[in-house]
Amino acid sequence: MFYVNIGYACPMTESTSQHAKKSLGQHFLRDHNAIARIASAIPEGAIAIEIGPGPGAITESLLARAIKLTVIEMDDRFASHWQDVAKNNSELSVIHGDVMKELEGAVASVQPEWIAGNLPYNLSGPLTAKLAGFNLSGGMVLMYQREVAERIASEPGSKVYGGLSVLVRHYYDVKRLLTLPPGAFVPPPKVHSAVILMTPHGKTPACSYEQLQKTVRQGFAHRRKTINNNFRGELGAEEFEAIGIDPRKRPEQLDYDAWVRIALALKN
Ligand code: SAM
Repeated sequence: MFYVNIGYACPMTESTSQHAKKSLGQHFLRDHNAIARIASAIPEGAIAIEIGPGPGAITESLLARAIKLTVIEMDDRFASHWQDVAKNNSELSVIHGDVMKELEGAVASVQPEWIAGNLPYNLSGPLTAKLAGFNLSGGMVLMYQREVAERIASEPGSKVYGGLSVLVRHYYDVKRLLTLPPGAFVPPPKVHSAVILMTPHGKTPACSYEQLQKTVRQGFAHRRKTINNNFRGELGAEEFEAIGIDPRKRPEQLDYDAWVRIALALKN
């Protein structure tokens, strides 16, 4: 019988580690300092969603902060454990399913102020593209592989700057909260991890998130091509110049505001 060690005062049991499912990106956080930093980013009493609670490193700390919490978990073992806990805890709700399918409905019904999660690595790109489209009043605190976190937090001109770096800036200011070595997890991943904190910048975006997403997808389709080439047939050099963008630039050289101007020009 699978045993879930929820007592995070104790280290993770050997059996939990042995039963980690690689296919679900299961690397369980056991670094107490990191757990405390992630949980304390969310104010006490807030309404939050946690993606992938697993055996509950972050979950327990969030519940201890009187956070009204909805967890989304795909693994049957963890989902049924949290469903049992929820029977005696009215602050906790459980959605048993795939976050890629459940997230939108969950956000619509829970109306969270915050979203937290030590994200399954295999989903981090597409999941972040979804997450960045929610305009939360509190923000998000999310764990990634370090390379993905670097991409998300990077600035124009950097080699790793890409579509996600633009999308997350639609509603949020982005900063790296901490970096963790593989040993902070059981079982240890092959790479370092990093926690990203996204807090709302409060500016009203000039285009919709969907427009921005479509524009960024097309604009970064060929990183080595100029922006003029990536939008050939839709926007000409003169139109780029009219919106203050040198058409010879490459996609990784354009900041968020430039992408919005392209999105708006495409619309007309
Ligand atoms: N929060 C725990 C921690 O920090 O120790 C576990 C984090 S582990 C990296 C990722 C968690 O996401 C696992 O519990 C895994 O079962 C869950 N998960 C993976 N894919 C999922 C999906 N598509 N939908 C919902 N949960 C998923």
